[in-house]
Amino acid sequence: MTRYGVVGPGAVGTTIAYELAQADNEVQLLGRSDKRVEYAPGNNQLRTSLEVTDIKKVEASFDVLFVAVKAHQLDAVMPDLAQLIDDNSIVILAQNGYRDLNRLSIKHIYQAVVYISGQKDGNTVTHFRDEILHLQRDESTQQLKRELDRSGLHIELEDNIETTIWYKLLVNLGINSVTALGHDTARVLKVNGMRELVRNLINDGLKVAQAEGIQFETTLINDIIRIYDGYPDEMGTSMYYDIKDRKTLEIDYIQGYIYEKARIHNLNTPYLDTIYTLLLAHQV
Ligand code: NAP
Repeated sequence: MTRYGVVGPGAVGTTIAYELAQADNEVQLLGRSDKRVEYAPGNNQLRTSLEVTDIKKVEASFDVLFVAVKAHQLDAVMPDLAQLIDDNSIVILAQNGYRDLNRLSIKHIYQAVVYISGQKDGNTVTHFRDEILHLQRDESTQQLKRELDRSGLHIELEDNIETTIWYKLLVNLGINSVTALGHDTARVLKVNGMRELVRNLINDGLKVAQAEGIQFETTLINDIIRIYDGYPDEMGTSMYYDIKDRKTLEIDYIQGYIYEKARIHNLNTPYLDTIYTLLLAHQV
């Protein structure tokens, strides 16, 4: 039986562990200490609680290890990961932002594009919607998808994950930036001129993606705006909650990543530059 591990008992990690356990998989949720996390599933099912084991106490190695810590928390967790895997293990980063996987010395590592919406408050996780991870298609991920077919964790396989990563980067660039800097939920999109600002911001990001060789449909910006239109007013983003709670923001891996690429390609990206600089001023 495949041994699954999930590092990071937050909104994303707890949802992954919950869905794997619901389908009778062998799964262990690992965190910074032994504790229990209260979990409220988004589909009106009963609240439950999941056991969390201190990552430093685990000696076994996992066949598949999901890593759902925030992007800036990954470096600190890397030494622990090395103890939890062997040469055949698959490691799946379930995080937002862009990560150069070649810089992480893990043999079989994948960047997932995460569509799971939830929020952690203390030791309680509330799941709002979606349980989807997009992964690069290859033999290992095809097998994983088959294994998880009966679980509530949906694996979508992509022929070119780079495009899917960039798509999510651009979605996050718009909504995360304005909810964080506007100190409001998706309601902020109703502020006069905000939709125009978001369009211009995504357009700057799109220029960078294109310079990186990523191809999108010409309708991309309208498509993303349509996604935002589907958000309920009260929906927050992780960057909105992080700025509200005075936590470190993931800007180095989203806005900052795109900004650095814009410099490399000598692009004129005034909206991106302004937003990134303002976010830097908020960085804890
Ligand atoms: P989160 O709720 O803050 O959870 C992160 C978890 O990682 C926390 O439980 C934290 O432990 C744990 N952690 C941090 N450092 C650790 C370490 N060294 N060892 C073990 N555990 C450690 O974050 P999240 O919202 O799940 O986000 C995870 C990633 O998914 C982020 O990149 C985020 O942008 C992305 N994402 C989130 C959502 C969403 O709706 N939440 C949606 C899409 C993508 P403590 O509990 O001790 O702090």
